[in-house]
Amino acid sequence: MDELLQLKNGLHRLTVELIGNCKYCSLISSNVEFKTPIYCTKFTGAIHPTCVDVHTCLACQEYKNGKTP
Ligand code: SF4
Repeated sequence: MDELLQLKNGLHRLTVELIGNCKYCSLISSNVEFKTPIYCTKFTGAIHPTCVDVHTCLACQEYKNGKTP
């Protein structure tokens, strides 16, 4: 497998493990080429989630609070 693709897959796996725990994260796209794969419901609600990148989540840090308030 191409090294860049391996890196992208690794980053995707870490993103799922870290951000998937956020109570506002409704979905993480499995497309590793997608720049904003995280569907966040915090600002726009569950019906219209915002697509954000991992840097936004790292700055936000809401994922640290887990699934329950
Ligand atoms: S931006 Fe914040 S609230 Fe939204 S999914 Fe990422 S960590 Fe959670």
